Amino acid sequence: MFKLTRFCILFVSLVSLFSQPISAESFTQREARDPEAATGFQAHALVTAKQAMVSSANPYATKVGLSVLKQGGTAMDAAVAIQAVLTLVEPQSSGIGGGAFILYWDQKAQKLFTLDGREAAPSAANEHLFFENGKPISWHQAVVGGRSVGVPGVLAALELGQQKWGKLSWQSLFEQAIELSEQGFIVSPRLAKLVELNINPGLAKLEPAKSYFYPANQPLKAGDLKRNPALAEQFKQIAKQGSQYFYQGDLAQKIVKAVQTSDIAPGQLSQSDLKNYQPKLRAPLCGDYHDYQVCGFGPPSSGGFTVLQILQLLEPFKLAQYPANSATALHLFSQASKLAFADRNRYLADSDFTSVPLNQLLKPDYLNKRSELIQLNTDLGVAKAGEIRQTKIDEGASLTQPNTSHISIVDKWGNAVSMTTSIEMAFGSTVMVEGFLLNNQLTDFSFSPKQNGQLVVNRVEPNKRPRSSMSPTMVFKNGQLVGVLGSPGGSRIINYVAQTLIAKLDWQLTIQAAIDLPKITNLNGETSLEAGTNIAEYQTQFEKLGHKVNIRELNSGLHAIWKTQQGWQGAADPRREGIALGY
Ligand code: GLU
Repeated sequence: MFKLTRFCILFVSLVSLFSQPISAESFTQREARDPEAATGFQAHALVTAKQAMVSSANPYATKVGLSVLKQGGTAMDAAVAIQAVLTLVEPQSSGIGGGAFILYWDQKAQKLFTLDGREAAPSAANEHLFFENGKPISWHQAVVGGRSVGVPGVLAALELGQQKWGKLSWQSLFEQAIELSEQGFIVSPRLAKLVELNINPGLAKLEPAKSYFYPANQPLKAGDLKRNPALAEQFKQIAKQGSQYFYQGDLAQKIVKAVQTSDIAPGQLSQSDLKNYQPKLRAPLCGDYHDYQVCGFGPPSSGGFTVLQILQLLEPFKLAQYPANSATALHLFSQASKLAFADRNRYLADSDFTSVPLNQLLKPDYLNKRSELIQLNTDLGVAKAGEIRQTKIDEGASLTQPNTSHISIVDKWGNAVSMTTSIEMAFGSTVMVEGFLLNNQLTDFSFSPKQNGQLVVNRVEPNKRPRSSMSPTMVFKNGQLVGVLGSPGGSRIINYVAQTLIAKLDWQLTIQAAIDLPKITNLNGETSLEAGTNIAEYQTQFEKLGHKVNIRELNSGLHAIWKTQQGWQGAADPRREGIALGY
């Protein structure tokens, strides 16, 4: 299914990725950038287990998560321990310097909770945060340094979740990450490759990140033993004092200093921003697809909404009648995705700052009308957002740069976590504090506050959370949990998750086969088909329908768990280096 050409294409796309000024690109082109390199393809066998399962992006993290579950921890306990380990071993993707969305299924209460640990803009930020000389700067300029750093939210969210749904002591959940930070971990091929590729322009420039990732001026190599004593020390304090050490203690001071005195683009994050940060419990966003209920994260994520809209727009087309990944099915998928992205781009943002008309956009009558725009034999071109009765809002030009991680966990009681966690671009802002990286999540805002004279909903405002595409998802049937999944991948996350759901719910593949399926994305522009796979052969056929086709790396990182009569099945994306383990 996969051919060697995928790696050559990857290199070309990486080079072209950073060679263009932002102003020359359209909105969809900008969102379509993803500098994350594929670093290998490793087939995984489906993992099955009777009681509990973990799937995450790194073997160390999955093993630690499993050991917490075996010690009698809940899925929430395991999530804390996994995030601590990922901060160390997958620093390019997530960490305590970033943010996350967490779905928690409480089996006893039969209730789904959604916990928002998304980064927030500093109170001093305004809609011109990314302006210089009266103009929005390029994305490239915006990423690196203190200016792009939002208040990290993941630790506060995990602490709140663990207080509500954990069983083990908070302190114990950091033990393994502390030991690994002190003794050292083996640098993975993926981490080494991303350092070597120098994909984040700040990494080789800003200290102390430079010395950490390029010791003696040489990039970290796969197989190196890497210690991180500074991080071990922070974990010890966080374990003892809780998140207040991070938000109000010594560490808060260090974070603020690093941001405000960054050699590149100093930022405005202040001690009071950290102190005032609150994780938020929000209402889950659920809708039907066939006889399943699909639940995800509402605003400030656009993920739950857009995944649901894609599925519901496709409901009348009965995709089960087509073979998995057949050309017709993928054409229909691309069209639904265009329509859903058009609405997402125009209407979705932090709902604490703007009213997001979710109910109207998910109404059956509205969806039926939108669905009628999909033709079996023609591409619909660039979709326009649906008109609904609301003040005029324009879509904003924001970028999502994929480097993120998804964790799926089910414990022996049947509680579950679906958590997507991110520092945004690979290696975030590259501002490093005491062994961990700070995010650049503020670049997920629209850089321009207005477009065509209209205010953009996703503009920067003080304390606002930037729009996200992260789509942690859970699937239910007759009220019972059947699936847990999510992925990194910037805006393409939405397509990765929606396609995997269709592969499960329509094509009835095993969860591993669903993840393995060659990927297609369309963010309301070109249709991207995964290079080196059999669906790349649809290019001519799709072009005849009017698609603009791009054959490229599609670097999903799906981690999922599915229920069967025998127990749980766990799966990890062969495009990254994660694994699933259960017992
Ligand atoms: N910053 C992106 C978002 O929140 C995630 C980036 C990624 O997935 O890799 O949507």
